Amino acid sequence: MHSIKLVSEKLTPSKVVCVGRNYTAHITELNNETPDQMVLFNKPNSAITDTLFAAHNGDTLHYETELCFVVKNKKLVGVGLGLDLTKRTVQSKLKNKGLPWERAKAFDGSVILSDFVELTDEMQHFKFELKINNEVIQQGDSHFMLYKPESILQEISEFMSLEDGDIIMTGTPAGVGEVTADCIFKVALYTNEQCLLEQQWCAN
Ligand code: ZN
Repeated sequence: MHSIKLVSEKLTPSKVVCVGRNYTAHITELNNETPDQMVLFNKPNSAITDTLFAAHNGDTLHYETELCFVVKNKKLVGVGLGLDLTKRTVQSKLKNKGLPWERAKAFDGSVILSDFVELTDEMQHFKFELKINNEVIQQGDSHFMLYKPESILQEISEFMSLEDGDIIMTGTPAGVGEVTADCIFKVALYTNEQCLLEQQWCAN
């Protein structure tokens, strides 16, 4: 089983729960409808990787940089960043046919996570960015999320139990694109203009 790090504690998520279509600009870029109910899907523990891959079984992967939270005792206790890796062509085919998304979203290596820092009451507003080879490619701001972290936690909890270590990924802002091998992906998370964490991965 794969683990994540919350400060110095190791936790083993049973699942990663992801929100789709949480930023208007990203909904527009993929020509999706704004949902009347939160779009949620899961990645199992086996989807977590330490290595960022540009492809899986011959399919190209696309990055989505997302604000992430760790759950413990049914509460959000840690915050970090992750890449939701997606087989966009496969996903489009599945969407068009009304089929489940697992083949496009839940394969091995479909999520890479930063370390997590402790969430405090002072952290009410987050900004984050993805740089690829030092160029800013994605920028996120929690003000522009259709669903805020606490309401996501509440909605998931209404129908699915969250275990200690489970991760919630809150959706991607605009600017998604293809992972290219040998590129350096660097993510940074800010609250109240203060940098909380930075992490980088080199795509394989
Ligand atoms: Zn996503």
